[in-house]
Amino acid sequence: MSQNLQELFDRNQQWADATEAREPGFFTRLLKQQSPQYLWIGCADSRVPANELVNLLPGELFVHRNVANVVVHSDLNCLSVMQFAIDELKVKHIMVVGHSGCGGVKAALTDARVGLVDNWLRHVQDVRNKHWPWLSSLTEQPRQMDALCELNVLEQALNACQTTVVRDAWLRGQQVVVHGWVYGLHNGLLKDMNMTVANAAEVDEAYARALDGIKGRYSPG
Ligand SMILES: [Zn+2]
Repeated sequence: MSQNLQELFDRNQQWADATEAREPGFFTRLLKQQSPQYLWIGCADSRVPANELVNLLPGELFVHRNVANVVVHSDLNCLSVMQFAIDELKVKHIMVVGHSGCGGVKAALTDARVGLVDNWLRHVQDVRNKHWPWLSSLTEQPRQMDALCELNVLEQALNACQTTVVRDAWLRGQQVVVHGWVYGLHNGLLKDMNMTVANAAEVDEAYARALDGIKGRYSPG
């Protein structure tokens, strides 16, 4: 086993060479500025590479990832990323992106004891508990799991809408749209939860519409 991970440095060299060959001057242009339009708040899962799956280059996507794409009102890490993205980079869109088959969501759903992360996943369990009267009507666990992934995106996007950072941006008339998406591990495709919010007045309606959408898909009629 290589202790200095030389193979990753080799891959890095190949990537840098290929990128520069494809687009001469790529890195020197990036030096001058980063002006991404988007802030991606997603899961840390290694199967969900943010830039790649929306086919965006370095410099085009500002990214924050944590286990189960949670937006917590007191998480200074996530809030700082959001504040910098909105106030300094002037991103126009914030997408909270969950994914199918999320291990964090599954652990939260099933009360699995994993370790320290259990405390973090309490936030997802809060989502489960809030929606349990409906969620429990889905009899099969895989469906509950998929539905909780989607509900979690909704709630975390709602939390994003309620941060002072986003509220202040809307108050001063800055254009910031919050989105809730779910990525399908099985097909590589993004699905829009229709939780799309461009100002404070739209929050409740967007949330209600998106929630109706989820319930309609999982328990039609
Ligand atoms: Zn995940």
